[in-house]
This record gives sequence, structure tokens and C-alpha cells, in this order.
Amino acid sequence: MAGLGFFINMLQFDLSPLIGARPGERLVFSLSEGPHWLEDVQVAFLRGPVTFVRVQGGILVEARLETSIEVECVRCLDRFSHAAVLEVEETIGLAGHSQPEIVYHLTEEGWFDPLPLFREQVWVVLPMKALCRLDCKGYCPECGSNLNVEACSCRKEQVDPRLASLAAFYDRRQEE
Ligand SMILES: [Zn+2]
Ligand SMILES: [Zn+2]
Repeated sequence: MAGLGFFINMLQFDLSPLIGARPGERLVFSLSEGPHWLEDVQVAFLRGPVTFVRVQGGILVEARLETSIEVECVRCLDRFSHAAVLEVEETIGLAGHSQPEIVYHLTEEGWFDPLPLFREQVWVVLPMKALCRLDCKGYCPECGSNLNVEACSCRKEQVDPRLASLAAFYDRRQEE
């Protein structure tokens, strides 16, 4: 299956050694992953340390990951990469122990997939209105040209809507 160019949408850490461990014991991984689909968002890579520390009642996940998130510009709809750092700090529970404040749990065998957790953080760092560049001109509403690429000739002068209604008022006056 490897090498076919599919995006991996799962990442599994074996945390079984921590289940019976004393609080304070840890497992450290150095993540260097290629493209991933995090459910509904794509990242080009995830790089950085991920630490799992046994704590009372669960396992603390700490990660600081460099990533590049694929986003769509709200104006021109071009896709571009948004560089970001994901800071993760979350306590996960052991299988079969439900605590109200704990969202994620290990499997019975001690596996943990942190991607849903990383995805949450991606949405935290994503800009609300992503722009490929601050002065992105987007598309002409009339002819659909990408105004970043070409200037079109159909652009009319923008009329302030308040002035427009005033202009209409004067037009009517002249007709009377
Ligand atoms: Zn754009
Ligand atoms: Zn145009």
C-alpha cells in the first residue's frame, strides 16, 4: 500500500508502556510526517516533538509542531500554504475510564491517534478569512477575470450606494 501517493489519515502511537507506568514517566517521539488529511483540512507536513507523560488519571500530550496548512483564499479561491505552529497540550484518558473533561482516549490496547487533536489546533491557528496575500484583488464580479493576473476592461466606477440612491432621486425629479 505504501508509495501509492495516498494521504495517510491516521497516525498511531503505541502508548501501552505508559498504561502501567508511574506518573512522570514519558515517551517522546519526533514526528516528521508527510501530507495528511486531518478530516477536512490538509497539511503538507507535521514536524516536531510529541511527548506523552503519564499523569494521574491519564496521559498528558504535549506537542509543538511545525506545519503548512492548505487553505483557499476567500477572494480569488486560489489554494495556498499557510505556515503555522501547532501548540498542543491535552490530557487523554485511558480506555474504559470516562471523565467528563476528557475528550480523547487510548484504545484498549494502548494505541492513540493524535490527528483529531492536531486538527482542532489547526482550526485554532487558521485565519478566519484567509487571503493568499493582503492585497489580493480576487475576481471581477462582471467578467470573472482573476484580477491578480489580468486587469479587465469591464470595471465600472464604483458608486457609493448612498450616492446612487441620491442620483436616482435627481433622475426622477428631472423626469417630472
Ligand atoms: Zn487570493
Ligand atoms: Zn471584468
